[in-house]
Amino acid sequence: MNGKIFIIEDEPSIIQLVQHNLEKNGFLVSSSLNGNDGLKELKKFQPDLLLLDWMLPDLSGIEICKNIRKDKSFKNLPVIMLTAKGEEEDKIKGLDSGVDDYLTKPFSFNELMARIKAVLRRSNPNTVSDNLKFDDLMLDRIEKRVFRDGQEIKLGPTEFRLLEFFLTNPKRVYSRDQILESVWPNNVNVESRTIDVHIRRLRQSVNLKNKKELIRTVRSSGYSLI
Ligand code: CA
Repeated sequence: MNGKIFIIEDEPSIIQLVQHNLEKNGFLVSSSLNGNDGLKELKKFQPDLLLLDWMLPDLSGIEICKNIRKDKSFKNLPVIMLTAKGEEEDKIKGLDSGVDDYLTKPFSFNELMARIKAVLRRSNPNTVSDNLKFDDLMLDRIEKRVFRDGQEIKLGPTEFRLLEFFLTNPKRVYSRDQILESVWPNNVNVESRTIDVHIRRLRQSVNLKNKKELIRTVRSSGYSLI
């Protein structure tokens, strides 16, 4: 798995526990302790799923949810609401306002994981499947192998991660910053030139003879998988 999950939750202990376990499961995670910062960060991070606390110091989870649904790029962002006990009535309202699922605290991580997988399987199956496919390209996450039209393609570790990243959201254009944040999560000192070098290598590797180009350069925006 390599989906991106954003958490807005004001209890640091919950963030810590959830973030640590999600990262162990291969997710890229970022978080915020309040609603206003969360809304700003969310836009930069472009997650595949949002874990949203119901009760926050500034905005309520419902207000945040309504806010993001107005934004075209987040209209379909899956949201799992985290509620405390005794908010039954609120839960129903929560589902009305565009929440995909909810979980009552305290919850076990396994329970959370099952909900996340179920929601992602509906919204973006590529974040949870072992084999990523696009056109005649296939990436096997378990064996770490890549094939095009049945022919194996050898990739370096960075090119592999790049391709895996593009395959989770084909046809979406990513800026160099977004690519950097997702493919080099712990190295903020990578220059955009370095990204271009790895894209070029990936391109050369996947562009087999007589096959169409799969990676598109979008001028002044970035790159996308066709
Ligand atoms: Ca709270």
